[in-house]
Amino acid sequence: MTAKPITIVGGGLAGLTLGIGLRRQGVPVTVWEAGHYPRHRVCGEFISGRGQETLSRLGLRELLERAGAVSAETAAFFSATRSAPPRSLPTRAICLSRFVMDELLANELQKLGGELRAGQRWPAAGVHASACPERLKPELQPEGVVRATGRRLETQENSSRWFGLKVHVRNVPLTADLEMHVSPRGYVGLCRVDGGAVNVCGLFRRRAGEGGTPQNWREWLRGQTGSPLHQRLAGAEFDENSFCAVAGISLRPQRAATRAECCVGDAITMIPPVTGNGMSMAFESAGMAVESLAAWSRGEMSWNQSRETAARRCDITFARRLAWAKWLQRMMLAPALQNVLVRFVASSEWFWRTAFERTR
Ligand SMILES: Cc1cc2nc3c(=O)[nH]c(=O)nc-3n(C[C@H](O)[C@H](O)[C@H](O)COP(=O)(O)OP(=O)(O)OC[C@H]3O[C@@H](n4cnc5c(N)ncnc54)[C@H](O)[C@@H]3O)c2cc1C
Repeated sequence: MTAKPITIVGGGLAGLTLGIGLRRQGVPVTVWEAGHYPRHRVCGEFISGRGQETLSRLGLRELLERAGAVSAETAAFFSATRSAPPRSLPTRAICLSRFVMDELLANELQKLGGELRAGQRWPAAGVHASACPERLKPELQPEGVVRATGRRLETQENSSRWFGLKVHVRNVPLTADLEMHVSPRGYVGLCRVDGGAVNVCGLFRRRAGEGGTPQNWREWLRGQTGSPLHQRLAGAEFDENSFCAVAGISLRPQRAATRAECCVGDAITMIPPVTGNGMSMAFESAGMAVESLAAWSRGEMSWNQSRETAARRCDITFARRLAWAKWLQRMMLAPALQNVLVRFVASSEWFWRTAFERTR
């Protein structure tokens, strides 16, 4: 029997990794990507967690390392008024710019015989309803279509709006491979990436009624005058071309099994970025979907069985870390707890290890 083709909507990390995994199983794959490569993305570019095993299994980790991924072994936390000394990361992370990484995976997919339709947006859900053999709800995609379209838009969550900013800078000395700076407005992560640049990426919160997207992104990223973050970025040379922003971020945990479609990556749910585990979840969810989607392609499983198997695996794997990440994120954003948190990270090995291990 000829293998049935799979269409992946979204050529970000989850979609490309899934495409590569499926091609390695001989499944015909087409990835639709609305944007072009290479491109900058709002991302801390810090890969930490079990997704590194998925990368190794698919032979991709070596590719990233050859492309200049920087190894990260220490992290330090700061509030607006307090600094903690660097701590060892319980497991090593790797840092690579999305500018390099997404293009690398896109090229790898094509080398393996996958079709990549860059610059082509898959039509909005519902347009394909007539092709849906089971005539399910009109918003569903037809069988064989996987959603890897990234985070779902949300304009407001608990009367706050989240937005993310990222830029690459030079001339910034770091005290640890990852620096995490928390403030009442959000948090900013700094890490070294390929090519000697430092990625500066922040997640911020605006209360409802506080106005639209901030115009002065440098001020948001620099933080309060006098804070360790402000001092760190005092002599920074900003690479304006690398600047990007996103808004409409939802951090409410979701379960894959509640999705009517087959989803991977942020299309299932987003984990608070402070964990540095979102990319890992994109790789892991893609890795976990390969087997059952390949079984569908070979005619060994129905589409629903295949979709449900992948969703169950993701939900079991991600439930605990999503719960811990939600708790950690709350704590980091509560101004009264920020100094306590920095002190705890510095003084308690148990706290540091537990928070790290439970969120990945
Ligand atoms: C502020 C911030 C900081 C972060 N920092 C980190 C970090 O340090 N470490 C970490 O691990 N994670 C981090 N993340 C999370 C990480 O960026 C995401 O989890 C990861 O990018 C998810 O990958 P994805 O493939 O699911 O989605 P994406 O990378 O968003 O890719 C989705 C793709 O789908 C395409 N698309 C959407 N709709 C269509 C359509 N209709 N047709 C065709 N294409 C379409 C889009 O163009 C996009 O390329 C951060 C996120 C934010 C917001």
